[in-house]
Amino acid sequence: MTVRQVVCLVGGLGTRLGPLTRNMPKPLLEVGGRPFLDYLIDEAARFGLQRLLLLAGHSAGEVVRHYAGRVVGGLSIDVIVEQSPLGTAGALANAAAALDPVFFLTNGDSFFGFNWLALVPALERDDWTMHLALARGVGGGRYGRVETREDRVSRFLPKAESELPINAGIYLVRRRILDRIQSVPCSLENDVLPPLASEGQLLGLAAEGTFIDIGVPDDFARSQHAMPAFTRRPAAFLDRDGVINHDDNYVHRPEQIRWIDGAREAIRWLNDAGYYVFAVTNQAGVARGYYGEDDVKSLHGWMQGELQRAGAHIDCFEYCPYHPEGVVERYRRVSEMRKPGPGMILKLQKEWNVEMDGSFMIGDRDIDMQAAAAAGIAGHQFPGGNLLDFVRMRVPAKRRNPSSR
Ligand SMILES: [Mg+2]
Repeated sequence: MTVRQVVCLVGGLGTRLGPLTRNMPKPLLEVGGRPFLDYLIDEAARFGLQRLLLLAGHSAGEVVRHYAGRVVGGLSIDVIVEQSPLGTAGALANAAAALDPVFFLTNGDSFFGFNWLALVPALERDDWTMHLALARGVGGGRYGRVETREDRVSRFLPKAESELPINAGIYLVRRRILDRIQSVPCSLENDVLPPLASEGQLLGLAAEGTFIDIGVPDDFARSQHAMPAFTRRPAAFLDRDGVINHDDNYVHRPEQIRWIDGAREAIRWLNDAGYYVFAVTNQAGVARGYYGEDDVKSLHGWMQGELQRAGAHIDCFEYCPYHPEGVVERYRRVSEMRKPGPGMILKLQKEWNVEMDGSFMIGDRDIDMQAAAAAGIAGHQFPGGNLLDFVRMRVPAKRRNPSSR
């Protein structure tokens, strides 16, 4: 099963922020020059999710005006408005008709820099209803704490300073959660999660990462520089054929893909280490008339689904369909996009907030190394074998995270 949907709770009142949120939903407050919610939307899009459902309440008109019908990357956005405050779980019940069998659920006013897809591999088992992301290392007495036993949440503890992790507000949810919401208003945190924990129906995965709750004035102030800093990161640019999958000549259909050993695991490792991961691939088969751009795109969509099952994703697939000797006229040309040109790398650098210092390319051919050199980044030539082993030997596991404290 592939997870395609994310549901985001944006209906809260934001009383702790005073007049700032009188006529504005908290998630739309400006942070580093853009609405806070935009950072969450970018996260969902880069994880390869396709549909975002915003559950709006307080000042819902603003949410509709800013977001209804928008498309960001491959993510299309819809808004559902509750007519009276229903609570976080009530809002979910109100949206029942629009929910997938499994979906991500996030708070719209907090942010946790975490690989959401790490929650997905647990879908192989059916012995849980919700899988919670837990943030480790968050100090202070203003958060409730979560006690776990192995990978299961055993109970929720009151607000206190503690070594225990906190609920980070990112969940993978099975639709059967709706059976637990009998009457509204109903709060997820107070009415739904504690009984599920006592029944052993909650999994928890703890990780470290930037955690921000903009409902808290201190954190709102901190977010102004922490959020833009979070999105600036180095990137791993991966050639596709010969690095991610075997280069079996013009592969363009899922059944032709033979994954390189350790490729999905290497991508997951790079995701967890905080790199952007991009595929940059010459696809001259388009210019030669062997297949079309639609084939390339649908293959990449399929690969993203396979990666998701391993808890991994590629932030963006960039491909070059051109070739100077192509037979399809509109693709017959010399292009800086085609490796050894650096065009694809430089395009991604411009479109994403890539820090080139610490970025690198992995490819199996000289043209990949030439593209890396022309873009001013390191190139690692992959001789075959296991990609995870190769990546671990050459890439520092911990990159500096400028937004952590
Ligand atoms: Mg190659």
